[in-house]
Amino acid sequence: MSKIPLSLISFSILLISATHLIATEKAMKVGLTPDWVRSRVEVHLRDLPTPLGPTISFQTRVASVVFPSDRIVSVDHRNGDGLWHSTRRISPFIFEIPKGTRELRILMDVSVQADPSSRPFVSWMERGAGVFILSDLIPLEFEGGVSVDLGGGSATYFRSVDSAVVAVPGERGAWSSRDGIRIARLGEWPIAEAAMFESVREILIDYKRRLGELAVDNVEILLIRTEGERGTWSARTIGSTVVLFSSGTPFASQEIQRFHEQMRHELFHLWIPNSLSLKGDYATFYEGFALYQSLKSGVAVGRIRFADLLSTLSAARSIAMRRAQSSSPSDQWGDDREFLYASGMVSAFITDVVLLSRSSGRVSSDEFLRGFLSENRGRRTESDRAIRNHFARFEPLRAFGFGPDLMPSRDSLDSVLRLAGMELRGGNLSVLAKPTGAQRKVLDRLGYNARASRIQTPIR
Ligand SMILES: [Zn+2]
Repeated sequence: MSKIPLSLISFSILLISATHLIATEKAMKVGLTPDWVRSRVEVHLRDLPTPLGPTISFQTRVASVVFPSDRIVSVDHRNGDGLWHSTRRISPFIFEIPKGTRELRILMDVSVQADPSSRPFVSWMERGAGVFILSDLIPLEFEGGVSVDLGGGSATYFRSVDSAVVAVPGERGAWSSRDGIRIARLGEWPIAEAAMFESVREILIDYKRRLGELAVDNVEILLIRTEGERGTWSARTIGSTVVLFSSGTPFASQEIQRFHEQMRHELFHLWIPNSLSLKGDYATFYEGFALYQSLKSGVAVGRIRFADLLSTLSAARSIAMRRAQSSSPSDQWGDDREFLYASGMVSAFITDVVLLSRSSGRVSSDEFLRGFLSENRGRRTESDRAIRNHFARFEPLRAFGFGPDLMPSRDSLDSVLRLAGMELRGGNLSVLAKPTGAQRKVLDRLGYNARASRIQTPIR
């Protein structure tokens, strides 16, 4: 690979503090009634956990999507008299309601957004199919558990609004289930259903081995085929639901490999950050480790070669180094997602190699992440602080002078390569001809000797 897969870098955007499905008793009830013809959904809120008033407000944007000012068609409230009253609009996204209101009816226009790359990030409806992401449908004043009912009598419980998403594959698609995995496909997917289930199962097993069990009943995957230029895709994992929009690969033979790669990345997010309730954004850590662990996992299950891992890391390294050299103040890095992800990935690699080498191959980034999960499960602290504390717990990382704030420097990377039995040749990482015994222990845990059994044409 001559460069880091851009698909991974540019389109996967992290999630904040979504949590998994768990039935709760004190859940607010949300009834969704879609109007498929007009692409509107009526959102009926009952059993509000706290009385509302005097105002409620709604999301005005999500990721790069700025909602149109007529998105909220109307808001009605009902109190003691049992009648619905319309609610005064203060601004497009703010409404005035009587204090103590406990029941609301909201009509939303959720027509498809123009920008295809943003589609996994917002609720949408199109031709009888749709995805309803609760955080953009209900007022911002709510958090905590929700019970979502799409009609038909059965409700789904979510432990938090942030993790709540329900998908309707419509007549053109249908859910199929196997071993706690549900997959729905919209449009033509030239991959056999069995191969999709096998990929997802294989990845989940590998991540469970590395990161520990996952407390979700079902993993749901909604696959939506899009028109347009081949090779473009965009995905998001909300709670335990993966939503993937993809235009497919240029060659049918690459489909399963691309699918596996997308799932390796997205399914990692079921653990981090989605099984945690940490607050705030920390792209470098969450996305960096997602990219790095998904490569390691790909090697371990035989879907990519160790050489593919090295070439992707080499590409990430050159992106990280180029940017690190060209600007000094760290606040200039803020919006450069490609740089942040590349640096995050290199940082994950450094973490892995330093821990492995100081423990003779016993402690790796897997144990590092598993520890992060067990320490922070159920905690509502800031991501930034949790990550900082976690790095500080690992003496070898401290001794190496490496922590969450440090963008990988050329020097730190050079010494890490020595620990791993690697060198740089013309900008590319490669394994030394004769690694020492200590270096071999690191290389083995990185997957150097893993057999690549199911590799098809690599996507470049
Ligand atoms: Zn991601």
